[in-house]
Amino acid sequence: MAEHNFDVVILGGGCGGYATALRSAQLGLSVALIERDKLGGTCLHRGCIPTKALLHSAEVADVTREAATVGVNATLQGIDMPAVNKYRDGIVDRLFKGLTGLVASKPITVVAGEGRMVGQKSIAVNGDTYTGKNLVLATGSYSKTLPGLEIAGRVITSEQALQLDFVPNKVIILGGGVIGVEFASIWKSFGTDVTIIEGLPTLVPNEDASVSKAMERAYRKRGINFKTGVRFQGVQQSATGVIVTLENGEQFDAELLLVAVGRGPNTAGFGYEENGINVDRGYVITNDRLQTSVPGVFAAGDIVPGLQLAHRGFQQGIFIAEEIAGLKPATIDELGIPKVTYSEPEIASVGLTEAKASEIHGQDNISVYEYNLGGNGKSQILGTSGFIKLIRKNNGPIIGIHMIGSRVGEQIGEAQLIVNWEAFPEEVASLVHADPTMNEALGEAHLALAGKPLHAHA
Ligand SMILES: Cc1cc2nc3c(=O)[nH]c(=O)nc-3n(C[C@H](O)[C@H](O)[C@H](O)COP(=O)(O)OP(=O)(O)OC[C@H]3O[C@@H](n4cnc5c(N)ncnc54)[C@H](O)[C@@H]3O)c2cc1C
Repeated sequence: MAEHNFDVVILGGGCGGYATALRSAQLGLSVALIERDKLGGTCLHRGCIPTKALLHSAEVADVTREAATVGVNATLQGIDMPAVNKYRDGIVDRLFKGLTGLVASKPITVVAGEGRMVGQKSIAVNGDTYTGKNLVLATGSYSKTLPGLEIAGRVITSEQALQLDFVPNKVIILGGGVIGVEFASIWKSFGTDVTIIEGLPTLVPNEDASVSKAMERAYRKRGINFKTGVRFQGVQQSATGVIVTLENGEQFDAELLLVAVGRGPNTAGFGYEENGINVDRGYVITNDRLQTSVPGVFAAGDIVPGLQLAHRGFQQGIFIAEEIAGLKPATIDELGIPKVTYSEPEIASVGLTEAKASEIHGQDNISVYEYNLGGNGKSQILGTSGFIKLIRKNNGPIIGIHMIGSRVGEQIGEAQLIVNWEAFPEEVASLVHADPTMNEALGEAHLALAGKPLHAHA
């Protein structure tokens, strides 16, 4: 049993872990990065990247189906799922090679194997011990299920959904949050009959209420079925399908049930609590400097309560490395983290919802403006509808931006700068947005809120 010592020992090589490793190495710290599976974690292998590749295939299918509306003769002959998967795997493989090469090119010791905390700053892997002056926990998350709902056979999570080599005829999706609506969108475009079951009153319930409503309208129009405000009771499986029963007695049959009810922290059995780490319902509790209850032990990514997003993990990793190096970085404002729901249409948002802004500041102290994409040339060209909703503090900055429509995820970059730099609508209105882009709609919305609408009636 050998002993190894480093400035920073990191458990988990996903977004949070590898970002910490890369930034620590840049700052001249010695680093060990322990990973039991593949560098890149959920996002690269089972999350963000493979699902977005499927969404791109889905978009191509939709575009082909609708080609005649723009005067192009094309017919969709079908979806070749093994070929779709090959395209997706090619992207994942290239990015994985790139990431592995990047990490290998830095002074980072990658340790393959499952690690377990065996002391306040020590991790045991394959019989060796890795001790850090600082330890970073970044073990990620897993797909949750409901009590009594076993993941087996035709009851699957996103991990198995990504492995399917066929397009299912009919699917029920339990959960209308980001992952649920994403798969609904993919499968519908591939020709599947989809029904979403969501216990809360709306789809995408964490978004601004008007965005959730618009999403429901868009999904209704696409023929994606959904039931909201009703809870799942049970499922029966047969050789050919599933029958799902809701608490109100309604039953639905399908070929598969996708369980997309959120992700839980992957922390059990790794010796965290035994070594003094404060854990609540599986989540590692940290202060705003991402330090756990044990000094010198930090946590990053999905195991820290809050938004479970790849870019949050990256930012936290960078923050922790800089904190360890004594750079005293500014804390990460959770409210300033941009969120994108990838589907057709897309949703992109940052900052406060109208309900939250009204609760914090009072409805009389905020102004809200919705710019309809109907007035935007590029949106008309693409045949998309939706809106950009701005919330400002009266005589103050923009505090929330909420967008829905095809490709609006691409607008989130400017939106997050506006909110995080606390820009006033008048300031954004003086900046020029290129015509004809969808980005122009963001400029137009600010022009209108600044009291000088151009292509808008208000
Ligand atoms: C279907 C799906 C789609 C998603 N799409 C998006 C998206 O579009 N955009 C977005 O921002 N986010 C998306 N996410 C979320 C995103 O993937 C996560 O927020 C992100 O991966 C979290 O990073 P992490 O480092 O906390 O954990 P992970 O990426 O899960 O990495 C944790 C790593 O730790 C390793 N590990 C765990 N325990 C041990 C141990 N004891 N020893 C050694 N290694 C260990 C694991 O093997 C894993 O590689 C999606 C997630 C899913 C499931």
